[in-house]
Amino acid sequence: MTAANLKLTILGSGTSTGVPVLGCHCPVCRSPEPRNNRTRCSALFEWSGHKVLIDTATDFRQQALREGIEQVDSVLYTHAHADHVHGIDDLRTFTLVTGRAIPVYAAPGVIDRLHGLFSYIFSDIDAPGYRPRLQVNEVTGPFELFGQQVIPVPLVHGPGESLGYRVGNLAYVVDCSAIPETSWGLLQGLEVLVIDALRFRGHESHFSVSEAIEVAERLRVPRTLLTHLTHDIDCQRDVAGLPAGVEFAYDGQTLSLPLPAM
Ligand SMILES: [Zn+2]
Ligand SMILES: [Zn+2]
Ligand SMILES: [Zn+2]
Repeated sequence: MTAANLKLTILGSGTSTGVPVLGCHCPVCRSPEPRNNRTRCSALFEWSGHKVLIDTATDFRQQALREGIEQVDSVLYTHAHADHVHGIDDLRTFTLVTGRAIPVYAAPGVIDRLHGLFSYIFSDIDAPGYRPRLQVNEVTGPFELFGQQVIPVPLVHGPGESLGYRVGNLAYVVDCSAIPETSWGLLQGLEVLVIDALRFRGHESHFSVSEAIEVAERLRVPRTLLTHLTHDIDCQRDVAGLPAGVEFAYDGQTLSLPLPAM
């Protein structure tokens, strides 16, 4: 029997504005290099034929069209900032086709925020066809999903918080400005780390490139993808400054790794 694989697709590698930034004419925003074109931050995990979205970013519909996503089996929310949730309405199309609610997972505080931001989804005012059908699950610790353990990783996100997610030896860690001491143990033995690395200068709610690299080095991760990138980062100009094993993520990037047997 062959071991199951986990496939990662970077749906969006950009910060909350996306890149190009509206109204900006800097060299990165005008760059013809496709990897400098960044939709809002999101990813797709796939295992055992199931597609699990990490967040429903503002650009989710375009990301789904680009990657040929025709089913969504679950959504794991990191937090409820606009760039990570505003694509939620486009889940409606999938639930219309299948007639089934999509299981979504989020921390209790994030579920409260989603109720406030998208009250039409959670009330009976609109007919079912006009809102996504979601089956909401509170994340309070590790849980099993489609035969794999999903480990939530509590993160500090400026004055707020967010959840990273680990499946097998892949961890997806956005948006974050610090990793609590109690979360480091959840990130040991990784093969791949995808981590928030906003820009070169510091920011109160996000790791900078150098801070993200420090995390990767402390964890001794063989391969690290920096994501949630602003227009300060030119993927061609700046790649020379990255240590071995660290790269800038880009929209459409994929990788696969074997999953440990459960
Ligand atoms: Zn964000
Ligand atoms: Zn720009
Ligand atoms: Zn955020």
